Amino acid sequence: MGNKDTVIVKKFGGTSVRTIDHIKAVAKRIIATKETHKNIIVVVSAMGDTTDTLVQLTKQIASLPDRREYDALLSTGETVSAALMAMTLIEMGHPAISLTGPQAGVITEKQHSKAKILDVKTKRIEKELAKGKIVIITGFQGINQSNDVTTIGRGGSDTSAVVLAASLESTECEIYTDVDGIYTTDPRKVKSAQKLKEVSYDEMLELASLGAKVLHPRSVECAKENNIILHVRSSFESTEGTRVKEVSPMEVNKPVTGITMSTDEIIISVLNTPDHPGSAGILFSTLGAQGVNVDMIIQNTEQDTTNNISFSIHQEDLKTAIKVTTQVVQEIGAKQVIVKEDIAKISIVGVGMISKPGVAAKMFKTLGDAGINILRITTSEIKVSCAISQEDAQKALELLHHTFQLDQ
Ligand code: ASP
Ligand code: MG
Repeated sequence: MGNKDTVIVKKFGGTSVRTIDHIKAVAKRIIATKETHKNIIVVVSAMGDTTDTLVQLTKQIASLPDRREYDALLSTGETVSAALMAMTLIEMGHPAISLTGPQAGVITEKQHSKAKILDVKTKRIEKELAKGKIVIITGFQGINQSNDVTTIGRGGSDTSAVVLAASLESTECEIYTDVDGIYTTDPRKVKSAQKLKEVSYDEMLELASLGAKVLHPRSVECAKENNIILHVRSSFESTEGTRVKEVSPMEVNKPVTGITMSTDEIIISVLNTPDHPGSAGILFSTLGAQGVNVDMIIQNTEQDTTNNISFSIHQEDLKTAIKVTTQVVQEIGAKQVIVKEDIAKISIVGVGMISKPGVAAKMFKTLGDAGINILRITTSEIKVSCAISQEDAQKALELLHHTFQLDQ
């Protein structure tokens, strides 16, 4: 597609299409864009909690239902919203057509439920655009080499939209959602939280994996790979949102861009592990094999002969983690397992900390001066996380938000 025919890709999430009234409101916005842009692609998620409802139905049949049929069922949610959206646009006098993933040429891996998108054969899409139609495409689904419908993982519609934008040589993908952008921290927790004008891909990936649920992490990776700007904005207000894009550390003047806090963390410690090769390997590979997500690992040596190993996990993995750990402890000959609940993890994230020394120290000092005890620390190039007691969490968040000048 040539430059003058630039394709605009707009993705609307489940909350933005949860009722017919919402669909009508979204349709009006799409029509407004159509006045100035010829080629518009709209990617939709399933209405509201439809996908959850479908998952609940399968649970009444089997805990692990047939994967092919599972995808056949789950993909219907998006098919419904796409057809309703196209119908609404047509009713409002604008030519439109809905295409399912398979019809739109979205080719995925063979694997069901979390297939990766391999390619988009854009011929049909381009044909419909050339006819002047607004093309509505189902997110979250595609077709594999066996001609079966696949889904690409929960929350995957964001990724569908980015892949479509890349395939149609678009440079920006608009993600419309129920919040109006990415904030310095959760505005429900800190009143002075500010909406960010832009966030780098790497920061967004850290924020997303730390619990900011606005974007699916895979969609951010995919946007980064294809250099596509993600514009996260409100479905119902026309204000500018937040652009996720490449940002050089030299361009930013604040060391910290955002702060996240997750509560319900747990610290498990394994005491007196015999100090010989392989113990940690057995423990963490067994936890990994059982799907337990481990974070913040610390090992220290006790009297030269034994080690204490401790790590943090999320509440939801507690049962499995305790079961696995107690089994492994016997196997490797450790003495004791201690579980510490009611832990919070607070993380500062920013590309600016790469070029500015002393950021971690400032975080520790702020917490220390307030009498907040730090239980664990982990860092990456653009992130510092501290485990603290849950009762200190809110205070820590407010203090750090202020210390790093995020309220201005
Ligand atoms: N409807 C799918 C889900 O709920 C995909 C999406 O919303 O992005 O996971
Ligand atoms: Mg979503």
